[in-house]
Parts: sequence; structure tokens; C-alpha cells
Amino acid sequence: MTGTPAVEGFFDPEAQALIGSKCTGCGTYAFPARQGFCPNPHCGSDTVDLVPLSRTGKIWSYTSASYQPPPPFVPADPFVPFFILAVELAAEGLVVLGQAVAGTDAQDLRVGRDVEVVTDVLFTEDGENKLVWKFKLVEATK
Ligand SMILES: [Zn+2]
Repeated sequence: MTGTPAVEGFFDPEAQALIGSKCTGCGTYAFPARQGFCPNPHCGSDTVDLVPLSRTGKIWSYTSASYQPPPPFVPADPFVPFFILAVELAAEGLVVLGQAVAGTDAQDLRVGRDVEVVTDVLFTEDGENKLVWKFKLVEATK
């Protein structure tokens, strides 16, 4: 999938991974990435590394967007309802919001279900894909 990130610095489309920060002193993760300070008030370190975050996690909560959000949201034309998931990332425990991929069925959404981070098109502008992370359900192994 070709294109450029819809927002710089949040997501690596090729690696299909969110970009966070990790404190070199205490190991605290943050998303979006913090630069120049650690978000842990007990730490005091000012050195953080940018790191790719877990590509898997579990649904922490979710909701449907049945009505078109206001700008700056760029809707598909015509607007297609979608789901917004709050996902707890596997290693970091951070809860990150994102859309579920198109075609996700409400019947399949459950708190605790495994999802993976994928690259998808948020919108297309002047023929160029603007890319964002979305969440895709991982099929349960039987
Ligand atoms: Zn720290």
C-alpha cells in the first residue's frame, strides 16, 4: 500500500507499527511519543528513544461511529459508518484509539479480543493515499 502518513510521527506505514517513546531511565512508554522528557513524574529523565510499539493488542473498549464526524475528519463519500476501538497494546499496556478496518462486523467485536495493527487508507487527496493505522481482528485459533 503506497502513500504518505496522514499525520507525521505517529505511525510507520511500512512496519505497520505505531511510533511511541520509551524512557531510557525507567522504561515508561508513551503514545504519542514524548520527546525531551519522561511522562513518569517520579523519574526525571530527559532522554527518551522513539520505538515501534506492539503490533498486537486486545480490545479494551469500542464504539460505533454511525454519524459522520465533523471536520477535520475527512469522510468517505458517501459516509460509511465505522467502529472506533480502544486497544490495549500487548507489551506496553498503553490504550490507543483507532478505527477498525472496513468490513468489521459488530457481531465480532468483544472486549478482550485480539487485534493487530495494520496500515490502511484514511482518505485520498489529489490522487495520493493518506495512510493511518487501523485495527483488524485476529482470527481466533481453533
Ligand atoms: Zn523515565
